[in-house]
Amino acid sequence: MLNELTASLLLLESRHSTNCIVCGSKAQHKHHLIQKGIGGKGKKVPEGATVSLCFRCHEATHAHRLHFRNNDGVLQALRTEEPMKYIDVLDMEGWFDCD
Ligand SMILES: [Zn+2]
Ligand SMILES: [Zn+2]
Repeated sequence: MLNELTASLLLLESRHSTNCIVCGSKAQHKHHLIQKGIGGKGKKVPEGATVSLCFRCHEATHAHRLHFRNNDGVLQALRTEEPMKYIDVLDMEGWFDCD
């Protein structure tokens, strides 16, 4: 669901690099911070920023074990052991700034 939490991701600029912005490995994917379909069936969602991720971080993101948030304009990431819903991870400890 595109609410005020996810909408803040739309304000972030794309981060493209030859290296993964999370772990620094060779980047292999441009990942959309806002996923298609997040607004619900048939709803149009604005094109959000894309970020460079390596294979493993990209897999983790789509498995809901790597999460992104906009913290006052700073792109931050958080890893979780288990797949977590975005709404549940936002207040967790351990968020770190992406390079
Ligand atoms: Zn990575
Ligand atoms: Zn992706």
